Amino acid sequence: MSDTPRIHLGSLLRTAGDAHAEGELDHLTYLQGDQSQTLQFAEPAPFEIEINSLEGDELYLQGTFEPTLIMECARCLREVHVPLEIELGTLMRYDPAVQEPFLEEADTGEEVLVFGDPDLNLSAYLAETTLLAAPLSVVHDEACKGLCQVCGHDLNEGPCEHMAQVPVEEIDDQLGIPEGTTHASQNPFAALRDLKLSDD
Ligand SMILES: [Zn+2]
Ligand SMILES: [Zn+2]
Repeated sequence: MSDTPRIHLGSLLRTAGDAHAEGELDHLTYLQGDQSQTLQFAEPAPFEIEINSLEGDELYLQGTFEPTLIMECARCLREVHVPLEIELGTLMRYDPAVQEPFLEEADTGEEVLVFGDPDLNLSAYLAETTLLAAPLSVVHDEACKGLCQVCGHDLNEGPCEHMAQVPVEEIDDQLGIPEGTTHASQNPFAALRDLKLSDD
């Protein structure tokens, strides 16, 4: 298992052809501005990448990356494993003046991976691609009850004393979640209400 996904493009840049790289990553470390960021994966994430030379300084990258991203449940913060199957397909441009590879938006709106080091580090590219493919938020279970807004108690493990004191509607407002999705199962009248709705 390697820490840094790299692909060697030296000979590809000298003579047209293709280059291949594959491996497994248990995390990705990349720079965002000056900050070092890390994406953790729940299990070794296989990648397979092929790069072909096109006209001039342009190349084309294609392949697959299958990370299982570790995210947090939006309601109770429990760890959630999100398996992703990413198809890679990105235009690339070689510019020897470039230090760190970056994604640039071309006139066509297409993203172009610009790089200057023939020993190309794909960490930032794979990290950005992963974040784009990941859902904005996840819940560990559709029926997750979340945390008590007063004491932080995990309501999946049972009610806390505040449940009796804070009206259900008020809790829902605080959570910003439409009434009925989070606390319906705790509301003894939920079943009755559903019954009424289906009559309409
Ligand atoms: Zn949850
Ligand atoms: Zn509480």
